[in-house]
Amino acid sequence: MTDQSPTPPAIGCSNAPVLKERGQHEVFCGLTGIIWLHRKMQDAFFLVVGSRTCAHLLQSAAGVMIFAEPRFGTAILEEGDLAGLADAQDELEREVDRLLARRSDIRQLFLVGSCPSEVIKLDLSRAAERLSARHAPKVRVLNYSGSGIETTFTEGEDACLAAMVPALPATDDRQLMMVGALPDVAEDQALDLLARIGINNVAVLPARHADAQVGVGPNTSFALTQPFLGGTHSALERRGARHVPAPFPFGEEGTTAWLRAVARDFGIDQSRVDAVIDAPRARARKAVAKAAETLSGKKLFFFPDSQMEIPLARFLTRECGMQAVEVGTPYIHKALVTPDMELLAQGPIIAEGQDVEKQLDRCRAARPDLTVCGLGLANPLEAEGMTTKWAIELVFTPVHFYEQAGDLAGLFSRPLHRRDRLKLEAAE
Ligand code: SF4
Repeated sequence: MTDQSPTPPAIGCSNAPVLKERGQHEVFCGLTGIIWLHRKMQDAFFLVVGSRTCAHLLQSAAGVMIFAEPRFGTAILEEGDLAGLADAQDELEREVDRLLARRSDIRQLFLVGSCPSEVIKLDLSRAAERLSARHAPKVRVLNYSGSGIETTFTEGEDACLAAMVPALPATDDRQLMMVGALPDVAEDQALDLLARIGINNVAVLPARHADAQVGVGPNTSFALTQPFLGGTHSALERRGARHVPAPFPFGEEGTTAWLRAVARDFGIDQSRVDAVIDAPRARARKAVAKAAETLSGKKLFFFPDSQMEIPLARFLTRECGMQAVEVGTPYIHKALVTPDMELLAQGPIIAEGQDVEKQLDRCRAARPDLTVCGLGLANPLEAEGMTTKWAIELVFTPVHFYEQAGDLAGLFSRPLHRRDRLKLEAAE
């Protein structure tokens, strides 16, 4: 197959000025990460130490999942705890002991900090240490913060994985670590491609089960599958592992560049890689082309939500022919997204952080064909006649690697199709 990779733009966005905004923002807190993390780690339990607000957030975000004996819950801080009348620390430990006695399937327990637990300075790391000592070796207890004060949406996953890194056993093995909680189907495809290229020693973080032997050390190269893993990236480097910078594996181009970067790091010949990826590349390209018929030439506006915005804008502009007007993202971690920014042609406003009223004004003025935003903004914008795509679906749906490239493009073309159909029905 001839290599039909589009050429990189003459000037990418890696040095483009960034509009930094601070103000009112419309985003989830990091607790929401629990919803997809507990599905991935099949013997872990996430215990939020928080208020009724936190419990409500989890219940509404998890939807019907709350009826399926989920592996998450909230230890609700009562007024006595908040006023410092009760020893919250002791009470929490008693609560955990009770939970572990009842649920023998739990092998890892995460104590997840929230705004209230942080404000009253409840020391969850000390609690985790004491509980770990008490329940070792069967259960490991770790802690991280998913509070809205400190974390935005997907940063909850980052905080969770970063908390796991110091506890990983050391290894000198030459290995690849693939980092990021992917749906099993996407993870299996990636492992299969890597094995066929010749990389068999692959550790996955987070692993599906606590007893998977995931070690880390100076001969570990790690590749991220999600752009929001800045804290995990630093924690792995502190353990001596080396980051393989690459565009993120969204779409045909992103997946190809990601695999080639990893293969280069392991000294594998590009011709061997190409022989493996030729057929899946062609399939991905064909699947994306179908959705691109609808997307091509359409104006695109991203509100900040998941930190996936820059790689997705790269995919939608380069592979689907869209025109990005503004790419808003909660945080730009240059060490992670520079390869994507180099491929994203200069032009759109790159915005970091949010002042939602100002951003709404810019969005209304631009009249984009498609606006990617959170649930809080989606319906109000639809009522103003704009077409929206809910950003949260992007973290629940398998969207990585070749076989999902068409589905990923389809997530964006669907709202445009729906709008056209509704218009037609109204006209009939
Ligand atoms: S952690 Fe903070 S932002 Fe998140 S639900 Fe609880 S109180 Fe709200």
